[in-house]
Amino acid sequence: MTPADLEFDQRHIWHPYTSMTQPLPTYPVVSAQGVMLKLADGRQLVDGMSSWWAAIHGYNHPTLNQAAIEQISQMSHVMFGGITHPPAIALARQLVAITPEALECVFLADSGSVAVEVALKMAMQYWQARGEKRQKMLTLRHGYHGDTFGAMAVCDPQNSMHSLYQGYLPQHLFAPAPQCHFDHPWDAADIAPFSALLAEHHREIAAVILEPVVQGAGGMRIYHPEYLRQVRLLCDGYGILLIADEIATGFGRTGKLFACEHAGISPDILCVGKALTGGYMTLSATLTTRKVANTISNGEAGCFMHGPTFMGNPLACAVASASLSLLAKNHWQQQVRAIEQQLTVELAPLRQHPAVADVRVLGAIGVVEMCQPVDMARLQQHFVAQGVWIRPFGKLIYLMPPYIISAEQLSQLTQAIARSLTEE
Ligand code: PMP
Repeated sequence: MTPADLEFDQRHIWHPYTSMTQPLPTYPVVSAQGVMLKLADGRQLVDGMSSWWAAIHGYNHPTLNQAAIEQISQMSHVMFGGITHPPAIALARQLVAITPEALECVFLADSGSVAVEVALKMAMQYWQARGEKRQKMLTLRHGYHGDTFGAMAVCDPQNSMHSLYQGYLPQHLFAPAPQCHFDHPWDAADIAPFSALLAEHHREIAAVILEPVVQGAGGMRIYHPEYLRQVRLLCDGYGILLIADEIATGFGRTGKLFACEHAGISPDILCVGKALTGGYMTLSATLTTRKVANTISNGEAGCFMHGPTFMGNPLACAVASASLSLLAKNHWQQQVRAIEQQLTVELAPLRQHPAVADVRVLGAIGVVEMCQPVDMARLQQHFVAQGVWIRPFGKLIYLMPPYIISAEQLSQLTQAIARSLTEE
């Protein structure tokens, strides 16, 4: 990669949440292996991000590579309308088997955001089929569900700058974010505002959508599972659907295969993505109960009104299927537990630092919340110089490494964070 390539990148290519006139620096990665990202100049970085929750088995995994190669030699893609194929069937079988029992029907979609769009549309069609026009969603502040319009409308209004799209975005209902921490004693007052909103608006609400237990991109907040259990009970009481967005938390990241398991609940609609393909390519799935699927199907439209071109892409399904098989074989519980223990021990001392507001850990997620927003570009440079890849945002410096990370590599990540504080 030449300096001209990087210049072209800066002038012509949008990156996530950046400006074309003042782009943030980008680091050229030419290959990745296991937990290491290799830069164009030959430097190797320990990956602390799993490419945003996705690469749980690490990069360039022989089993996933093999699955992709085998599938590509059969067919990379074929339309899903009127056609089915072995990789989609194998994947859907596995998803139905590992998700909560009541979830039986699988919609394969293109990305996390699209899985959320699908879930929202399903909730609306469900009510339409029952002869009611319900279009409001109830969700939580500090939530994040994606960047498309439907998904964005249920993201935290401030973080996702709803004001920019005023008049265009549907207006939904927002309960305050849960305050009770995961490992604190449960405080029944925490659910009261949510409960009050539901009591007032339940006749217009189609569904509640939330990220179970861990609110990710909206603040990396980890809340009490009892909150989620109460939400399930309240939804049941009013006959309102519960959509669990496990796009970030699914597939073991929080120490349970799905974060809903911390509360022992099952949603009516479940969205998964990100780690579904082990981070190889984009694919997501929205699962529902038979009741939701049948109600939609028996409604006025007689079908569910969604069907993207690349629905059920065989290549992505084959890799996802291999990734789930790998997960089943791979002792992820022990790996995640070991990461959790080490993160707890190594990040805890940072709490004493005056610039640190909070440190929290759950499963293979470690978060250091600063008192002030960090200088992302400068901090990123510091991390790269330390041989690690950590991408902070806002006030948050956080880790969610591949499950296969070694204790030594994980220490490199936590030490780089500790050093960044002393060198502030
Ligand atoms: N929901 C959650 C909880 C997410 O964390 C994300 C992605 N950060 C999404 C939805 C959107 O997924 P995608 O970026 O694949 O569209």
